[in-house]
Amino acid sequence: MSASSSAQRLLLQIAGAEPAHLREELAAALRSGAIVHPWSVVPASQAAPAVRLHEVVEGRPEAEAALAAPAKNVGIAEVALETSRLVAILPDGARPAVVRSTVERCAAPFPPDWSFESARVPAAFAAAESPDGVEHALGNAGATLCGLPRRNVELYRHHFRPGQPGSCPRCGDLSADAPSGPSTQERLHGLIAAAAPGPLRDELAAALERGAEISLWMEGPGSGFIKHHGRLERLTEGRKAVVTALESDGRVGLAHVLYGDWRSTIVLRDGRPPVIARAFVGWPQ
Ligand SMILES: [Zn+2]
Repeated sequence: MSASSSAQRLLLQIAGAEPAHLREELAAALRSGAIVHPWSVVPASQAAPAVRLHEVVEGRPEAEAALAAPAKNVGIAEVALETSRLVAILPDGARPAVVRSTVERCAAPFPPDWSFESARVPAAFAAAESPDGVEHALGNAGATLCGLPRRNVELYRHHFRPGQPGSCPRCGDLSADAPSGPSTQERLHGLIAAAAPGPLRDELAAALERGAEISLWMEGPGSGFIKHHGRLERLTEGRKAVVTALESDGRVGLAHVLYGDWRSTIVLRDGRPPVIARAFVGWPQ
């Protein structure tokens, strides 16, 4: 469907949307050729997280009313403006809402009662099949947890599933006893300890200790595709060091962390200290 017909379709669907001033602003943008993207339809149970209410800066009561309406599915359509996004919330058979959101993703409040200890994740093992068709958990010592040598089993691409029909009960018991592992926040916290001291590192460390959202963590050639994901043009502190670090040869890791009014960008390199920058993504931008 072309952009213009999406715009026409959305114009029809926001008739009656509240609040009126945001509806009118969205209608004016659509009539002057604004592109609708993305436009998704999600089950009502997933609509609230999909709207990301913490990013809404205008129209929140109307959004909450639209999200509370009895509907099977909810359409969510966005139009990007210069300094904000207008998001139409379209519940099946109920009054739609139009809200204004921050121009890019920003931090949710820290999860309550979060800690490295409470966020540890159960140990995961690769699955491997023995010739008799039983699924085992492959340990780090070159054997399954129940002691079959690696060469006698075939490795699968999924994780071992304890307690499933056809899975080895001994491996199930031993995997349940395995020590849990750190959360991604705890792992990143450990890695940035080697970065240069200062507020960029210390505020990020404090945010990770409270469960800040890691919105991106990827690895690749620094000079290549990572630049397209780094959103470097928006960095307001430490931009030059991050650009230099990404220009280095070899593979690098790139992570984004959202906390408060900030998005931190972390570049991780083998054998060299991590580099940290950040972008102000609060409101107004
Ligand atoms: Zn086993």
